[in-house]
Amino acid sequence: MKLSSGRLYLDCNATTPLAGPVAEVLARAQEQAFGNASSTYLEGREARVALEDARGHVAALMGCRSDEVIFTGSATEANHLAVTSAARAAGHRRRVLISAIEHPAVYDQREALEGAGFKVEEIPVTPAGTVDLGRLEGLLAEDVALVCVMAAHNETGVLQPVDEVGRLCERHGAWFHCDAVQALGKVSSPWDSARPRTMAAAAHKLYGPKGAGALAVRRGTVISPVLVGGGQEGGRRSSTEAVPLAAAFGKACELALQSLGAMAGKAPLRDGMEDVLAGRWGAFIHGGSAPRLPNTSFFSLPGVPGLQVAQALDELGVAVSTGSACHAGQAVESRVLGRMGVPGELQGCALRVSLGRDTTSGHVEAFCSALAQALEKVAGNADYPGKA
Ligand code: PLP
Repeated sequence: MKLSSGRLYLDCNATTPLAGPVAEVLARAQEQAFGNASSTYLEGREARVALEDARGHVAALMGCRSDEVIFTGSATEANHLAVTSAARAAGHRRRVLISAIEHPAVYDQREALEGAGFKVEEIPVTPAGTVDLGRLEGLLAEDVALVCVMAAHNETGVLQPVDEVGRLCERHGAWFHCDAVQALGKVSSPWDSARPRTMAAAAHKLYGPKGAGALAVRRGTVISPVLVGGGQEGGRRSSTEAVPLAAAFGKACELALQSLGAMAGKAPLRDGMEDVLAGRWGAFIHGGSAPRLPNTSFFSLPGVPGLQVAQALDELGVAVSTGSACHAGQAVESRVLGRMGVPGELQGCALRVSLGRDTTSGHVEAFCSALAQALEKVAGNADYPGKA
């Protein structure tokens, strides 16, 4: 998408700007729904109405019932609430299975789980970037408390076989937690088909505000709060409700639900771009053989450092990311690509392009032209490894 600054923003899996109508709702709610939703006088009651209205829209996008939505401050918090609750409900079940490619918001809870006496095991992925169902089946047993598999991967965009994961978990009585942060707003919610007990969402990935997340909790599931205090959100997440953020999140979900068709229409743009990348520069598309989100392309241009290309593109007015293969400006080994068996030399060459709701074919063409310029610039750099 083109920003008002004129820059080409192609990193919509990292975050999205506020949609216009969402910004309007946020501004209005800051003024008109500022009351404490727990107060019984008029301003409180108005805030409560706005909050419950928003909950309905979030529930509609997630595919669950309104009373199954807990508002949180982020998707990271929602993931922590789910994992903590599952751990506290585990009883005699002492094993946890986490996919090898989970986002750090889930994956990095391993240590805390181990500290609490759980044996944490990784569910391997195939070279296509899909959770290996055969291996999961082999790992599942009656002592597994929790299984974490995301719905769609933030870097590769690969859609995970969560329906099958859900069936396997149900058969073994394990709590299935699904991080659906990247899937929601891009493809339909897996809530009904995969039947996770808990599912996480983030507003800012779907043109909503930062600082707003949600956890869907299937009826009958006991949640152990991480934040205790005032007993808000049915005692499951204390802290005065952020009504304006929730209202904006609700509007973003309403728009996202209406835009699923438009998002599906991004796949041909993405595929056309990948044809150019592969044909012109020999790009290797990570997860290219698996079903993917319609907006995501994660690829390596052999021999060309991804970080340098991303920096050159930035100078040319184009924002793309290196996935998580780069932290604080340093190229590091990618856990995700490593687990997919991608050789180290290709890992450092990775770039992620994630299209937005408003990305056009013209934007994709502009990206390809900018990439050609960026590659020329990188080839002229003294420290470019391919330079003679
Ligand atoms: N899960 C996935 C799949 C994500 O892509 C992200 C954000 O990149 C998160 C969780 C965490 O979201 P946040 O940093 O907004 O809490």
